[in-house]
Amino acid sequence: MRLALFPGSFDPFTCGHLDILERALRIFDEIEVTVAVNSNKVPIFSVEERCALIEASTIHLQRVAVAPFEGLIAEYARKRDASALIRGLRQTNDFEYEQPMALANRHLHPELETVFFLPSSDFTFLSSSIVRDIFRWGGDVSDLVPEPVGAALQTKRSNE
Ligand code: ADP
Repeated sequence: MRLALFPGSFDPFTCGHLDILERALRIFDEIEVTVAVNSNKVPIFSVEERCALIEASTIHLQRVAVAPFEGLIAEYARKRDASALIRGLRQTNDFEYEQPMALANRHLHPELETVFFLPSSDFTFLSSSIVRDIFRWGGDVSDLVPEPVGAALQTKRSNE
């Protein structure tokens, strides 16, 4: 069994994240979407909400688990006996950000490989922060996020 972790903030989980996850499932036996507790200062969704929304958005997929996480991903991967970290690359500036992180994780855990996937070209512009910006200014994000995330954003808007 090859377990890979797909770590990130996922605030919120987007169609780009889902695209990467579906590609990675063709290669790995099991994938845990590992939701970072601490990365965004003013998150739209709490880590519990983010986990629940990822679970709802991946209900059609087998072999996917979701878990919150805080600390060093390399240590967590060792504890979980995961063989790889999955990350997505949209443009060259993603590589500049990802390369030192991947090398730092290799320094901490030499057997852990970081594996990069390219999303569908439809999603190369898409990020959680773009979704947050469009949402905060009242725009429509329904084509950019899985249905449960869109519904949760609507609920948030009507509660504001
Ligand atoms: P982080 O704060 O760790 O960057 P994100 O939730 O923003 O967390 O992203 C998690 C991973 O998913 C990163 O590797 C990021 O590059 C990738 N990613 C985010 N959006 C997309 C997308 N539209 N297409 C492909 N990869 C993406």
